[in-house]
Amino acid sequence: TFCFNLRTSFMIKKLPKEIVSKIASGQIASSPSNVLKELIENSLDAKATKIRISIDNAFNFKVVDNGLGIPYKDLPLAVERFATSKINSLSDLEKIETYGFRGEALYAISQVSHLTIKTRFLDENIGGKLEVKAGKILSISPIPFSKGTSVSVNSLYFNVPVRRKGFKQKSKKDLIKTAKTFALCNPEISFKIENEVFPASSFSERIKQLFGDTVSFKKLEGENFKLFYEEDSERKKVSFVFVNRRPVELKEFEKLMEELKIKNYILFLELEPSLVDVNVSPTKDKVILKDTSFLETIKESLKPKISLPKVFVFREDEKIEYYSPIKLLGTDGTVIVGYDKEYYYFFDQHLIHERVNYEEILKLLYSKKIPLRELVPPVVLKGEENLASELLKLGAPFEKEGNNLIVKAIPEILRVEDLKKLEKGEKLESVASLACKRAIKSGFKPLSFDCLEKLFNRYLSCKDREFCPHGRAIYYRIKRTKILGKLGRK
Ligand code: ADP
Ligand code: MG
Repeated sequence: TFCFNLRTSFMIKKLPKEIVSKIASGQIASSPSNVLKELIENSLDAKATKIRISIDNAFNFKVVDNGLGIPYKDLPLAVERFATSKINSLSDLEKIETYGFRGEALYAISQVSHLTIKTRFLDENIGGKLEVKAGKILSISPIPFSKGTSVSVNSLYFNVPVRRKGFKQKSKKDLIKTAKTFALCNPEISFKIENEVFPASSFSERIKQLFGDTVSFKKLEGENFKLFYEEDSERKKVSFVFVNRRPVELKEFEKLMEELKIKNYILFLELEPSLVDVNVSPTKDKVILKDTSFLETIKESLKPKISLPKVFVFREDEKIEYYSPIKLLGTDGTVIVGYDKEYYYFFDQHLIHERVNYEEILKLLYSKKIPLRELVPPVVLKGEENLASELLKLGAPFEKEGNNLIVKAIPEILRVEDLKKLEKGEKLESVASLACKRAIKSGFKPLSFDCLEKLFNRYLSCKDREFCPHGRAIYYRIKRTKILGKLGRK
């Protein structure tokens, strides 16, 4: 029965018009690498575990797999337009798990080449061979063949010389890149690309097979993604994004990588097929994602964190001081420059001071040392436990009335608007703006070195050393090796 079921689900049938109209028309055979991509995708869809790709040049290449094969009687249908074994109904379009589903690739390719398919389906005793040239079936005949399929494309674009001209011999490189891209996102399948063999393995092993043992990719794993990344590297740029094993362009992700200053990356994202719309373009390299929460997760985990190691030193008066291994060089009144073993740092002087003020004012507030100002009339806030405990921390007297909190007084540096912010769980805006107003303006007369060191040590004891209260990054840093490299020193 196993075989019977597979047989029915693998029958090739013409798609109803209704679906055909849903599918944008094809530019599938637009380049040799696109043609190769379609052939490899077909092998993967046929559940091949071994795929061999041979490339003579940009116009003559072959893909051989050990997949399910094509039933002999269906062979002519394989090259008919909109004939596919992969979807049956409109609702299938919502949950595509195969690469192919449009039933146009072999049709489109056969129109502009000399195409030969040799195949044997599962346990059929005899295989078949189909030859098509410029869309005309030249021959179809039974042949003995081992299980699987071999598709060879020859004289691609022989009847569209203008297109052929666009792809000179240099395209062989592109073809190899396309093949390797599929090897990258399907590590459990063994690939042979020209003379290189990539045995079945894991994602990280496949990366080594392809990019060499010296790669130093770090790995970040989430619920539905694996990200391999390198911040700095002398390597030629490596950037791949796969959604459900489909190589795609994902602008939002590229932007995020740029923002995080990550140069090389390989992202494997797995999403429910219903959350991915791949039917945006015929080559399916553009996708629309209905769930982008992975972007937030990656951003949170990888946003640069200054990890200034702190050195505790006990002094005579037993007060703990923080010393930073960052050596300060000085300030021009706007930017403070320093360095440690790994980086050169550029701190925004105003933002450092603002951050220091902000945290120090908050500390003062919470120590309840700031006099209270009576609120007339009292301010009514809606809120629960959290809000009440915030008010307690600030030492602001209040009464509970049902779900309401009646606030009678607040520390005098706060404003009524701050209470509204507290109600919404946001930060105390007037503390932030006070911190900013009291911070030394940029471009002022440079601080003396002594002052600078004092300010910097206060900064080092801040809880957050990354961002100013309004969210701007406080510093920028560059690897020493990078600067030394630019100066010709290794
Ligand atoms: P699609 O992949 O969108 O279905 P194609 O034109 O690429 O359309 O292929 C048409 C049909 O030919 C497929 O649905 C599949 O049944 C069959 N086919 C093509 N290549 C292979 C292969 N390597 N192994 C098994 N079947 C294949
Ligand atoms: Mg296909």
